Amino acid sequence: MDQQPHEPNVTYSAPIGSVDLDAFKDDGTPHEIWPCTDCYPWHAEVVNVEGEILVREWHAVDCQQFRDLTARD
Ligand SMILES: [Zn+2]
Repeated sequence: MDQQPHEPNVTYSAPIGSVDLDAFKDDGTPHEIWPCTDCYPWHAEVVNVEGEILVREWHAVDCQQFRDLTARD
């Protein structure tokens, strides 16, 4: 049986995970949000976490951008 190299699963049905991002820069200007070009299930929502407005991005867990975002913590 051939071993297939692991292909990242970034389809609409892929498992997804979220990362919370600042909605505003320190001087109050908003961060621009661009749709992820690396995965299909990307979407974002605005959440209020204990009075702080954050942008919650959802990506496929295999998405490279998601991995980059979550690796910096
Ligand atoms: Zn993504």
